[in-house]
Amino acid sequence: MSHYKTTLPDEAATQALGKQMARVLQPGMTVFLHGDLGAGKTCLTRALIHAAGYSGHVKSPTYTLAEPYQVTLQNKPASIMHFDLYRMGSPEEFLDAGFREEFHAGQVCIVEWPEKADGVLPEPDIELFLRIAAHGREVELRALSDKGFACLASLQFAPVL
Ligand code: ADP
Ligand code: MG
Repeated sequence: MSHYKTTLPDEAATQALGKQMARVLQPGMTVFLHGDLGAGKTCLTRALIHAAGYSGHVKSPTYTLAEPYQVTLQNKPASIMHFDLYRMGSPEEFLDAGFREEFHAGQVCIVEWPEKADGVLPEPDIELFLRIAAHGREVELRALSDKGFACLASLQFAPVL
């Protein structure tokens, strides 16, 4: 099973999901975060980065497009690069900035607005879709690699039938 769906009734639930993900992600993995402005992509990422041991301020990389963090994953030093590509003008800009080189075995890459770099981003291990609902958020998670399958399998979600 590679497709899960759950409800996040409040901000704390979004943060709890980020925290859970921090426990299962391994260096080298890529996570795409889809969802409208205000859906909770940064909120989830912030909780994930803090749960991975970074104690400073995690700001939205709205203008810098990418922000690096030194963290601990699987009890080992690692890094997370947090992208927000909303303001990127074209996929070429992504390549010119050298962002493609950030996707390597020692780092987790979390990408908000991956649609903006269609065609130049590597395939993700996990794709997460956040939707604003009447009460809170709905989230769907899909695994697209063996590592992604393993991660999602260790989280407690109801599978989509
Ligand atoms: P994005 O990065 O997707 O544009 P942000 O994470 O910056 O969105 O903002 C999400 C907003 O929604 C925040 O104000 C946060 O408090 C709120 N929020 C996050 N998760 C939930 C939830 N499950 N239910 C209700 N509000 C939420
Ligand atoms: Mg954001």
